[in-house]
Amino acid sequence: MAKIGAIEAGGTKMVMAIGDEKSNISEREEIPTTEPKECIPKMVEWFRLRNIDALGIGAFGPTAVNPKDPRFGHILITPKTAWINCDLRGPFLRELNVPVGYDTDVNVACLGEAVFGAAKGLSNVIYVTIGTGIGTGVMIEGNLLHGMLHAEAGHIHVERVPGDDFKCNCPYHDCCLEGMAAGPAIEKRWGKKGYELAGNDKVWDIESSYIAQGVATYILCYSPQKIVLGGGVMKQEQMFPQVRQKTLKLLGGYLVTPELDDIDNYIVPAGCGGDQGILGSLELGRRELEK
Ligand code: ADP
Ligand code: ZN
Repeated sequence: MAKIGAIEAGGTKMVMAIGDEKSNISEREEIPTTEPKECIPKMVEWFRLRNIDALGIGAFGPTAVNPKDPRFGHILITPKTAWINCDLRGPFLRELNVPVGYDTDVNVACLGEAVFGAAKGLSNVIYVTIGTGIGTGVMIEGNLLHGMLHAEAGHIHVERVPGDDFKCNCPYHDCCLEGMAAGPAIEKRWGKKGYELAGNDKVWDIESSYIAQGVATYILCYSPQKIVLGGGVMKQEQMFPQVRQKTLKLLGGYLVTPELDDIDNYIVPAGCGGDQGILGSLELGRRELEK
């Protein structure tokens, strides 16, 4: 049985794991995301001691994920300035001399959901994380979408919900989904953390109106067979019925499919018990080894 390594490279912490080809995780460790020159050698060493056969990395973005891009495996422009233009993949490839798969954190989470989770067995899947930011992983015909960069569908323009005068929290956009609906926007708009607002219906009415705009747009653009919604904010599961109904309303009856007729099984919560990212990275490593 091959030994596969996985990294979920996040802005605050790095999760490392070891698993086999069947994605049984045997070991896991977390370290804080400090500066690359400190953080990367620590991770390289951790994997070196464990003699892995391949590695999969899911990284925070923006990052270059297209293997044809000369910057492949590098973090690009990011508010975490120490990481700008950092080659995250290269050191593992050189030091460990094993195949290294590389993609965004949300693309690997999408892979995790499509192989093991709520979208198991499907090949056209969107995974949306609604947390500190809003990110989308996109799988089309079994392949994770790369192209010019990767999807940044959390930053689509949304229509302001009537009565909501919140100033968009995104430094780039006037009224984008992330700026209006990610966790920090909820906190700023209401002066409390999301989990403290659980009983306030108005909060989730506005929130679900924004999320539904994203979901409806993704359905129209990507034609997914399932949409999986994860991230801290979606722990407010009472929002699911509202997101589903508002999405259908926005679609206006234009699309008629068995999937949309069964909306409760079409727009669904994440299904890997919070492990979609690390399981997806493991699967990415396994696929890299198979190549
Ligand atoms: P990250 O996006 O940083 O990986 P999370 O997905 O956990 O991490 O998202 C963190 C965001 O989700 C924070 O803004 C937090 O306030 C919000 N959040 C976490 N738990 C809940 C909850 N139970 N209800 C509403 N919002 C929550
Ligand atoms: Zn934005």
